[in-house]
Amino acid sequence: MGLAIVAALTPPEVEVSLTDENVTVIDFHKETDLVGITALTVTARRAYEIADTFRARGVKVVLGGMHPSVMPEEASQHADAVVIGEAEGIWPGVVEDFKANKLQRMYRQHERPSLLGLPIPRRDLFTEGAYFARHTVSTTRGCPYSCSFCSVTSFFGHTYRCRPVEEIINEVETLSERKLIGFVDDNIVGNPKFAKELFRALIPYKIKWVAQASVTIAKDDELLRLAAASGCIDLFLGFESLSQANLVAVGKRINVVDEYEDVIRKVHSHGIAIHGFFILGLDEDDEDVFKRTLCFAQKMRLESAQFAWPVPYPGTALCETLDKAGRIVTKDWSQYESNIVFEPKKMSRETLQKGRDWVWREFYSIPSIWKRVGVARRNSATLWAVNLYYRAIWQGKLRNNVGKESFLSNFLARKTPS
Ligand code: SF4
Repeated sequence: MGLAIVAALTPPEVEVSLTDENVTVIDFHKETDLVGITALTVTARRAYEIADTFRARGVKVVLGGMHPSVMPEEASQHADAVVIGEAEGIWPGVVEDFKANKLQRMYRQHERPSLLGLPIPRRDLFTEGAYFARHTVSTTRGCPYSCSFCSVTSFFGHTYRCRPVEEIINEVETLSERKLIGFVDDNIVGNPKFAKELFRALIPYKIKWVAQASVTIAKDDELLRLAAASGCIDLFLGFESLSQANLVAVGKRINVVDEYEDVIRKVHSHGIAIHGFFILGLDEDDEDVFKRTLCFAQKMRLESAQFAWPVPYPGTALCETLDKAGRIVTKDWSQYESNIVFEPKKMSRETLQKGRDWVWREFYSIPSIWKRVGVARRNSATLWAVNLYYRAIWQGKLRNNVGKESFLSNFLARKTPS
């Protein structure tokens, strides 16, 4: 989605193509003047390999996105220019500098760009048939909270910016078919007043939509009612931990463990499914955490969930704390998706790995899916498909620590049939 926005920001006389390596193969021999690559921490090493390959052929490369923004010096070793921060306000200038053969080493954003008048993302550049949800829309940026493990605040700052509702609706109207929209916001209800206005405006379109939200949505009956009325079928909620001490330690004070059951019942009572995020291996967790978390997720019949271990992404407060304590075991970014890269406090890394795998396996066993989803639930065919997708992850081919940084691309992208 980010690259479709960058494509839309590119001056119109420039021909643009978009390659997503999740779903297609990169053609390194294609005639190209300038390559722009976006990278998360977990994809940084691969992004650098791609950049090095293009540069070896004499093609100029610009790196941007979350990881290059927090590690610009590292990224600049693999790029002719690095964009630090969001592309709006910077990218058209980068293209002009390239045309004038005056690329600068770094382009830094000095203030957060306004979300007023954003161009319509170039969805026409997406590979046809390659995504579960082709129609993704961004309505906000950032999050009003600042959980220590989350890259959102370190990238977007302590700001929560909302697009004008009218412009979002105009964008929705451009979508060729509007059966399912994935709102790619980090927290669609970060500003309840804005969210209510948006949901009211969406009601006439009779769409179905999914989005990430904070558990605070359940504290506002009107907000939840409007979400359901506007077509919300699945909310991705960050429960993170069943230990209040852990939640306090990671700065997620908006979550109250004693309220979780009520939150889930309320969301379910509106016919909305829940995809829960849990982090296992935080500092207060001992070996009991695996069984406790699994039992809770099954008892509450969460339709789907992800169980990740903490990942100290660079730029986050968690990374700083663990680094100071000498608990980070590697800064080889290629390890950050599939290996535990920090020393847990109350268990070994091996125990955490085995425990997390066990929770994943049990939660996505067929009897568990049957108990949680069954056949009579609303949208049960879709819920089974999502469960079977995550089941495939632990079975091997798609195995990784699907965490906050990469979940949406993992969820929305699938390999094209080979
Ligand atoms: S984890 Fe969720 S609530 Fe916390 S800062 Fe990130 S997006 Fe916001």
